[in-house]
Amino acid sequence: MKILVIGGGGREHALAWKCAQSAEVTEVIVAPGNAGTALEAKVRNVNVSADDIDALIELAASEKIGLTIVGPEQPLVAGIVDQFKARDLPCFGPVAAAAQLEGSKAYTKDFLLRHGIPTGDYESFTDVDLALAYVRKKGVPIVIKADGLAAGKGVIVAFSQIDAEDAVKDMLSQGVFGDAGHRIVIEEYLEGEEASFIVMTDGTSILPLASSQDHKARDEGDVGPNTGGMGAYSPAPVVTPAIEQRIMDQVIKPTLAGLRSDGIHYLGFLYAGLMITAEGIPKVIEFNCRMGDPETQPIMARMKSDLAPICLAAIAGELSGVKADWDPRAALGVVMAAGGYPAGYAKGKIIRGLPLKRSHDSKVFHAGTATRGADVVTSGGRVLCVVGLGDTVAIASDTAYNLVKTIEWDDVYYRNDIGHRAIEREQS
Ligand code: AMP
Repeated sequence: MKILVIGGGGREHALAWKCAQSAEVTEVIVAPGNAGTALEAKVRNVNVSADDIDALIELAASEKIGLTIVGPEQPLVAGIVDQFKARDLPCFGPVAAAAQLEGSKAYTKDFLLRHGIPTGDYESFTDVDLALAYVRKKGVPIVIKADGLAAGKGVIVAFSQIDAEDAVKDMLSQGVFGDAGHRIVIEEYLEGEEASFIVMTDGTSILPLASSQDHKARDEGDVGPNTGGMGAYSPAPVVTPAIEQRIMDQVIKPTLAGLRSDGIHYLGFLYAGLMITAEGIPKVIEFNCRMGDPETQPIMARMKSDLAPICLAAIAGELSGVKADWDPRAALGVVMAAGGYPAGYAKGKIIRGLPLKRSHDSKVFHAGTATRGADVVTSGGRVLCVVGLGDTVAIASDTAYNLVKTIEWDDVYYRNDIGHRAIEREQS
């Protein structure tokens, strides 16, 4: 069987690498892929953008693709799965109506409230004066979110009144996030420990993936601007078996039941970004309609089962009873970024020290990389995700950072404390 993976980041490298390991898979095509996917055995890049749905349909039809997996959210929100379905092309991901769970924060907050799923208090606004009055009434800390897709950057956690009011004005008056910020959600600040919980679903049956946690803030100590993610690890020790059961019972199952009662069939990965409160209550911060990046990288490094047959079982509506096997070791991924990210950064820097040999306890996934002659060069803000495996998160971290230190380019930036909360828990 041939597989098409749509996207060109670290998540897609991990998905393509995972799919290519299956004996049932003859070739994985990645559109557009990156320098890392170009180097994988059985994997071929095709230069079609993840947003060019017509060209992707043509590619899937002409290459007789048996399964397409969509990496990023934009094509899902734009309805790529609806269009693949209309052509009878098997595609794992939610239709546009279901992808609204990520496409609009206001829709999602209303959905959560309507279905009694725990989340922070909130209100939505398009009027700047009403929004400012609400912020003044509520006080800080408070969270201001652009309604639409903003590549993980449209969220401001404000600890001062001035930052909160500036965020409101930036989004509603200055249009800093363009269309995505013409409507905003102002939300209660939730305290606790964050965790990501990702499941695969056929709309009714649910296969939970290994738990994980990412670090969104750019700088050490989880401060600085929000990014797409600077590192992640799996499992997330905060998700104990009891908490996992609560997440399933109080968040995932009611969400799928709520969607069904709203007439929406959800097929694909469903990602719940959660705050686990001190009382152990999982509250929804956000939903994503796809795998997380960089959570996918450590999760795929731990997944022992074949991914493609699980996706196909879900597409057939036969996920019930399907289980996944996991490497009992922990995996931890460190994102190596271009200096300046998430703001302006240079591209085209030659990357030195990439490992040439396979290893049983580490893997370098590429994100913003390109091939230039014999060199691999930087071509994006997040450049690599270096994953280490180990019996504990601390050992996985040592493995990852030992490899990180051998890779370099001009102006490389990374955090040295990925996994710090999990490591503190292990040591306490
Ligand atoms: P999001 O894009 O909605 O996942 O938000 C990005 C990050 O902002 C999250 O990973 C949290 O660290 C933080 N955040 C978002 N909403 C809240 C909230 N209501 N309370 C506290 N932190 C939040």
